[in-house]
Amino acid sequence: MAPKNPYTGYRDQLATLGESGNRRWIYAQKPKGKLYNYRNIVSYTLLFLLFAIPFVKLNGEPFLLLNILERKFILFGIQFWPQDFHLFLYSMITLFVFVVLFTVSYGRIWCGWACPQTVFLEFIFRKIEYLIEGNTSQQRKLHSQSMNFEKFWKKSLKLILFYAICFSITNAFLSYIIGIDLLLEIMRAPISEHSVGFTVSVLFSSVMFFVFTKLREQVCTMICPYGRLQGVLLDSNSIVVAYDYKRGEERAPLEAGEDRAIDGKGDCIDCYQCVDVCPTGIDVRDGTQLECINCTACIDECNSVMEWIGKPKGLIRFDSEKNIDEGRKPKWPARKIAYTVVLCILLGIVAALFASRSDLEAIILRTPGLMYQPQEGGISNMYNFKIVNKTAAEVPVHFKILNHEGEIKVIGEELKAKASSIREGVFFAILPQKEITSDNIPITIGVYADEQLIEEVKLSFVGPN
Ligand code: SF4
Ligand code: SF4
Repeated sequence: MAPKNPYTGYRDQLATLGESGNRRWIYAQKPKGKLYNYRNIVSYTLLFLLFAIPFVKLNGEPFLLLNILERKFILFGIQFWPQDFHLFLYSMITLFVFVVLFTVSYGRIWCGWACPQTVFLEFIFRKIEYLIEGNTSQQRKLHSQSMNFEKFWKKSLKLILFYAICFSITNAFLSYIIGIDLLLEIMRAPISEHSVGFTVSVLFSSVMFFVFTKLREQVCTMICPYGRLQGVLLDSNSIVVAYDYKRGEERAPLEAGEDRAIDGKGDCIDCYQCVDVCPTGIDVRDGTQLECINCTACIDECNSVMEWIGKPKGLIRFDSEKNIDEGRKPKWPARKIAYTVVLCILLGIVAALFASRSDLEAIILRTPGLMYQPQEGGISNMYNFKIVNKTAAEVPVHFKILNHEGEIKVIGEELKAKASSIREGVFFAILPQKEITSDNIPITIGVYADEQLIEEVKLSFVGPN
């Protein structure tokens, strides 16, 4: 019999819905295997970075700060100002194109390996659950039994720990908004002094608590907009976690002494291990599904089953629907390589733009409505300037006329651009009589920070007819 193609099949109800439309709770079996070990490394590295980055400072500035309340943004220790809006725009466009091309080429790897929802749920909350409530059958038993001392202390301990972790994660996120110094200051002060902030923290922690105790996989399967977009982002060439139905079908339980090839049976022994381990409760053998977060737990599980029955690994693997349909070995089509090159170029452009951004910016304009003023031995013009200092240090600034003899006289005190501020002022450019060759002389003014030329501004200098 020809193998049945599950990709043409359909699913008549969601995996997390019971017969009567009630929620079917997913008791996912604890994964084990090579890919799960890699995911452990990736997830704990990400968690470490989440909590450690707020403490990292570069040049006296936080490594990363996204203070939307005061519109102060710092990336890699570099302050970004409204003047850098074009960088933000390029970054957003690049991010959007990156997400589309990455998903089209590599599927939903982000969801299973790096998304905070998955990292928190699978590598913090579910692990605590396994530790306190035991494996899936023990969890099921505990859930169905009526309240007794064992159930009470296990559920209470789990919920207290869950809330404490949610509160810690909320504070970690908060430190990216207000900065770790202010957060620590708030933490040391009595709650009464920060009652609004504390209430907001409790509120966010409670929402997170609800997400990880009740909503769980529903966020990925029903709520997340990125998950909803999979239908338009994926095609038959996308690399996804896929079941090789050509090799696996006809699925049938393993029987002692059988020759599955002669009996027309495929390599799938219908053991349901891949389904039991799935955190979204789906059967990967039904084909690419919106609910699959590419966590690869089913790959690990099926590989260990294949090893046990003496068949080659990879019945479930990273591959495209097209490769499996045409019975081809996994390969990287030219289109994917081209997309990867485009992704690298885009990232390179953004990195170059960031690297070439200046810490000090000068805007100089001739004072409107004013003509020239005669001076002793020459002529002067008045200019308004604005110096944007994006660094965390005060910088002494001075101006020089670069293409003529002449001098600059700044009105007021010594010119210093204070840290993270905009300094505005006025100066006179004075040219000696011999340089006044027409009524409109182009001059170039050099802006120096310390002794370093940071910008050359081209302006016009008005003289008598
Ligand atoms: S784990 Fe492998 S062998 Fe078992 S049901 Fe799933 S695909 Fe079939
Ligand atoms: S089908 Fe496999 S890869 Fe997809 S969510 Fe389930 S276990 Fe993870």
